[in-house]
Amino acid sequence: MRLLGLILVILPLFTFIFKYEASSDEAYLSEMLLSSRTENIVNGESASDLNITALAGTLTQTGIPAVKRAYLTFDDGPSVNTDRILDILKMYGVKATFFVNNKKGDENILRYQRIVSEGHTIGLHSSDHVYRSVYKDEQSFLTDYLNNQAYVAAACGVTPVIYRFPGGSDNLVSKKDTSCYINILNSLGIPYYDWNVYVGDAVKNILSGEALAANALAGCAGKNDVMILMHDLPEKTTTADALPAIIEGLTRMGYVILPVDTAVPSTTPVFHFK
Ligand SMILES: [Zn+2]
Repeated sequence: MRLLGLILVILPLFTFIFKYEASSDEAYLSEMLLSSRTENIVNGESASDLNITALAGTLTQTGIPAVKRAYLTFDDGPSVNTDRILDILKMYGVKATFFVNNKKGDENILRYQRIVSEGHTIGLHSSDHVYRSVYKDEQSFLTDYLNNQAYVAAACGVTPVIYRFPGGSDNLVSKKDTSCYINILNSLGIPYYDWNVYVGDAVKNILSGEALAANALAGCAGKNDVMILMHDLPEKTTTADALPAIIEGLTRMGYVILPVDTAVPSTTPVFHFK
């Protein structure tokens, strides 16, 4: 009887110790995650970036795959291809980012509106993309920026708050050092975004959709966060062709596809491309 009593006392104790050991890894992870979040709050990072930062930063160290983020970006639109791009994005339930110019015509006005109403991010990309006038001097750059902003805001009812430099932020098409234009955006509180993956749709000889998709996915290999540059121009018909394979490939590779918002850190060397 005495032995049975002893077993009855010891058995629950063993069970408790075993359970505690089994769950301690999870508890450790939760605690690490929590402390990482606290640090981020102290550093003043926004709430929307917090979870991703915590996951990417903390869980990688513990061997659990980090969150991989992919941003699909379309420059130079809207165009006759915008609707097809939007249809494909809708079919996959994916949100993207459109860095737009000032395009005239009722059809284009509807396209600005559709970009916004379907939940994509709309950003600015200069009024007319003419390098010599956009980058003539600081006054020209600011005037162009404000025209672009006013035009798009009037067209879709939303004032864009992000920018992509035509040709990129350290482009070779501006005679002046682009830091003076970067300063203007900084003074306006407008973040700008370059890219670190390019699908190859800016070349004169149009590549097939298969070739563009292969370029995109090859460019993503080994990168945790990818900002993918594509073009939304009338002649770039194969970009939309490539989109399903790009989205499916990114998903297979473990990327979460997100639209750019101001919580995404502004361009860093990681996102840079010459
Ligand atoms: Zn462009």
